[in-house]
This record gives sequence, structure tokens and C-alpha cells, in this order.
Amino acid sequence: MVEKNKEYILDIVAQGYEGEGIAKIDAYPIFIPGALTSEKVKVLIVKVNKNFAFGKLLEIIEPAKERAIPKCEHYKRCGGCSIQHMEYKNQLDFKFDRVKDCIHKIAGLSTDLVQYPIGMEDPSRYRNKVQLPVGMVKGKLAIGFYAPRSHNIIDIDKCLIQDNVADTVSRITREWMEKYKIMPATIDGVFNPKGIVKHIMIRRGFKTNEVMVVLVTIKKNVPHISEFIANIRDNIDGIKSIVQNINPKDTNVVLGSDFRTIWGEEKIKDYIDEFKFNISPLSFFQVNPVQTENLYKTALKYAGLTGNEIVFDAYCGTGTITLFLSQKAKKVYGVEIVPEAIENAIENAKENKVYNAEFLVGTAEDKIQELLDQGVKPDTIVVDPPRKGCDIKLLEAIATAKPKNVVYVSCDPSTLARDLKILVEKGFKVGKIQPVDMFPHTSHIECVVKLKR
Ligand code: SAH
Repeated sequence: MVEKNKEYILDIVAQGYEGEGIAKIDAYPIFIPGALTSEKVKVLIVKVNKNFAFGKLLEIIEPAKERAIPKCEHYKRCGGCSIQHMEYKNQLDFKFDRVKDCIHKIAGLSTDLVQYPIGMEDPSRYRNKVQLPVGMVKGKLAIGFYAPRSHNIIDIDKCLIQDNVADTVSRITREWMEKYKIMPATIDGVFNPKGIVKHIMIRRGFKTNEVMVVLVTIKKNVPHISEFIANIRDNIDGIKSIVQNINPKDTNVVLGSDFRTIWGEEKIKDYIDEFKFNISPLSFFQVNPVQTENLYKTALKYAGLTGNEIVFDAYCGTGTITLFLSQKAKKVYGVEIVPEAIENAIENAKENKVYNAEFLVGTAEDKIQELLDQGVKPDTIVVDPPRKGCDIKLLEAIATAKPKNVVYVSCDPSTLARDLKILVEKGFKVGKIQPVDMFPHTSHIECVVKLKR
């Protein structure tokens, strides 16, 4: 039996879904974050459950040849990049295996359907949106990211997966807070109602270079805010918008409902392919602009459109995929649960002179059924659900609608595989499954799947 607080020398035999190494004693699995398949490691057992244990990696006795030296000095403490210790090519191999495993074990389909993931040429500095918590940690100001599974802020001056501008905004905020003794709204992880600054958020338009900085505070009045504005304005290339967001609540939700544009514009612009989008602080917009184009182009290709089709785009967000599809369809219906996202989608369609898209607010499961009840017959249905996958009611509606093609865009291979199994039982045939690496250095992987009736 494996014992807690004891050290073991173990051989890693597999990689778990979150990138952790797996060792086995008899058949009992031990999960070890940071360890790689084929390595011999020294491990301290930190948690023992009935069916598995967790170990802390103490020493790599025999490293794998796939092991990379993480470029980020904060890698060990930060909860951001869980697989930076793998060479990028091996990260893609790992994600390929992970998708194949789900497709085989959960969906019961052939792994031959899974294509090799589309990776990035340069997998660094890819994120166009950053949210940095601000707090006092052991008497010092910390701006950075949370440690794994905790709310302890790790002070980080440079993050290698974020746009460069985030490092500069973070430095300016830090200097301003220190100079004027502006207190953050948490102290050692505890809410500090006497403090002021809670988060900073930065967004940058990849093609336009326009920058938005959002200072999240717990109260309206911020001393020396004009100095903050001047420092950002004078030192950030492309600055277009500075917003104060007031969020007095002690919650995990970063943004409150009260926004004030304190300098410049309310929104910034960006393009995906040739489409222009207005982005406000709350807009959902994919965070890896380079890979978003690859994702959407694959979705469009798999939709198999000729210009005469009626298309449903379920879970359409701000209508990004909808606009892509509109180029080659007769009419596209976008459905989304968040009313503000639909307002953005309508505005985005107008800006791009797209007149064959219609948007509906509501759940995909209800609205798609309503469209069918009204006699609208889709040729193609595209779905892009959140991690939990599609509601069973939606899968049933898709089965009754009998479209020629279905395109499934997914951010979680496990729920994707579960839903594919159901769609196969309802008469669809799965074609290509194309993973796209939207989040290098993390264990996440996005997939686009083509299905036919
Ligand atoms: N296709 C968009 C957004 C995908 S994210 C893009 O690529 O940008 C998933 C979206 O599903 C989110 O916008 C979320 O608000 C929405 N959503 C979540 N549950 C939903 C439901 N039951 N019905 C419709 N939309 C839902």
C-alpha cells in the first residue's frame, strides 16, 4: 500500500489528461505533475485516495529525452503553464494522444479519424487578453498569477505566453501603486475592504495593435488616478482605451457591472481574417488570434458550404464563427444564451456588412427546436459549446433536424467524445477530427469535427 508522506522511486508509464505523469504500484496509479513518460523519478506522496494517489516530484533521476528546460523562471510556482517542461513538438504529440484516447475509449470510434494537431510556429506570447490579480503577499505588492489550485498570488514581472504589453502595464501599475501607496484589495489572500485595486486586465488587438487597459477597483474613488492614466497613456504603444471597472464584491468574478471609460474609447477593434470586431471589456473573444483563424477556417471547410445552405450556429458568442459561415451560406442563424454577446454579434454583422445572419438569444437546446418547429430546415449545424458539451435536448433536436453536415467545435475532448457517441447512435457518421492547439504550454486542446448524415 502506498503511504502518505513517504518517498518512493518510481517509473513513469503514461501521461494523464492534464499532462501529469502516471506511475503505478501494482495496478494502483499515482499522479505526479511535472513528470514525463519513461522517466525515473523520486516522489513524495502527498495525498492518498482509495483509487489513486498524488505525488510531488522531488527529483528526476533519469530524464526523458522529450524534457525541455522551461523558459519561464516562474514555471515551478505558477499555475499557468502545466506542460512547459515538454518540448513543443512533444506537447503536440501528447495532445494528439489525449484526443485519440478519448475518441477510442469514450466514443468507441477509430483513432484513424484523428488528425495531427495544428500547432503554432512560435508558441510564445500568444495570448491577447490578460487578467492579473493584485494583492499584498507577505508585506510586498504582488501582481501576477495564482499558484496551482489556490488564490495565492505569485508575483510575476514577465509572462512568456502573454502579449508583451502586459509586462509593461503590470510594471507601470506596480510603480504607481508603490509611489502613491495605493493598497490592493487583498492581503495574503484575504479580502481587504480598505484597499483599492483588485485586478488589471489588458487586451490587445492582434492585427490593429490597439490596447485596452482595465483597472478593476473595489471603490469608485481612486487617489492619483490621473497619474495612472498619464503613465499608461505615455508609455503604452497603441493605447486606445483606459477603463475603470468597479467591483466591490469579494468574489472570484473579476469584473463588476460598473464600467467607466476614464480615457480614450470604450472599445478596441481587431480583425479575424477580414472580419472586423469591436471588443469591450466583457466581450468574449478567442485569446489566441493566430490559432483562431486556423480553427475557424477548419470549421468553415468542414461545413461544406456552397452558398445555398441554411446554417445554424449554436453557442455563437459574439457571432465570430457565424460571420465566417455567412460568406458561403444562404442564411445563418446564430444562437447564444448571453444577451450582451448577441448585441455584439448584431453590431459585428452590421459593421461587416453581413446581411444574411440572424441572431437569437436563448439556450441552443430551446432556440434550435423553436426554429425547427417554425419549419426552418438547416443543411448544416455548427456547435461550439462550453466545456460541459451539448445538452442532450440539443443533440436530439439535431437528430430530428437531419442536416447533411454537422460541425462540432469543442474545447474538451472528453465531453466531445461523449456527444459524438450519441450523434453516431442517432445516425451520423464521424469524418475528420482536427485538433487545434489554441493554448500552447497548457494541457488544453480544441477540436473541430466533421459529421455527415
Ligand atoms: N462560437 C463562439 C463562442 C464559443 S464559447 C466563438 O468562437 O467565439 C461558448 C458560448 O456558449 C459562450 O458564448 C456561452 O455564453 C454560450 N453558451 C453556454 N451555454 C449555452 C447554452 N445552453 N445555449 C446557448 N449558448 C450557450
